[in-house]
Amino acid sequence: MTCNPNWNEIKKNQLLPGKSPQDRPDLITRIFRSKFEEFKKDIVDRGVLGKVYSYSYVIEYQKRGLPHVHMLVIFENNDKLCTPDHYDSIVRAEIPLQTEEPNLHKAVFHHMIHGPCGSINHNCLCMVSGKCKKKFPKPFVEYTSRGNDSYHVYRRREGGQVSILNNDDVFIDNGWVVPYKPWLLLKYDCHNVELCGWINCVKYMHKGPDRVALELRSRQNCAEIEQYVDERWICVPEALWRIYSFEFSRMYPLVIRLQLHTPNQHLIYFDCQQHVSDLLADDENSKTMLTEFFKMNCDPDLICAK
Ligand SMILES: [Zn+2]
Repeated sequence: MTCNPNWNEIKKNQLLPGKSPQDRPDLITRIFRSKFEEFKKDIVDRGVLGKVYSYSYVIEYQKRGLPHVHMLVIFENNDKLCTPDHYDSIVRAEIPLQTEEPNLHKAVFHHMIHGPCGSINHNCLCMVSGKCKKKFPKPFVEYTSRGNDSYHVYRRREGGQVSILNNDDVFIDNGWVVPYKPWLLLKYDCHNVELCGWINCVKYMHKGPDRVALELRSRQNCAEIEQYVDERWICVPEALWRIYSFEFSRMYPLVIRLQLHTPNQHLIYFDCQQHVSDLLADDENSKTMLTEFFKMNCDPDLICAK
């Protein structure tokens, strides 16, 4: 789910004349958060895509500061998607007809069209060595299927041409549509959704924050002084997200990785002034999360209470 700076809650009601959404990072942060809270209720509690067995999400920021969230949802066994019909019931990747679904047509046209890049716009940010790194436009296919990599191949029938840039010479078609769920797109005026049956998406979600490597040089003697500094990149909305103490990530059910060790071979941290005999006498030093986890599993009352 991405933050849309043109949401009515940001643009229409809150901005002073002459101000743009970028002038109110506090507003962007709070409204994105409240929309995401509602989004979570829809996905996890109300199960609008299917009954959720487990989920995980991470909040991230674009370079210019707009927040977005990557959320991974795993369905319960009875709601797992197994056939192309199931896939199509969750995700669409075509431009709906204006005559049949005018609101959805407008929303897809505004939010779910990639680029356009390639021959229409060589300077698009997705272009690397003359090619779109996200492989748009996608080929036309009659039926949705599981692809050979992490991504499904969604149904994109030939046609659906719409002119863009108010120019009847430039058209986009179903090959340019970013996958979406109609109900969510209409409710939130943003978001995209992908199906994935592979573990790769977990790795992508937890790729970590943006960083930048700096090189500091003395003006007079830059050849000899080369100092490299590895820095975190924090934009204003991210700083506000932290100040408001909003949650950055969550995993359900929670999984904690315990540090493994063989008996009595665990690490102990201590003050260098302390005597070894005192350290050994302190019973707390014989406990680790792993030993306490084993102990808890031996206590039937504790297991029942949990
Ligand atoms: Zn592209």
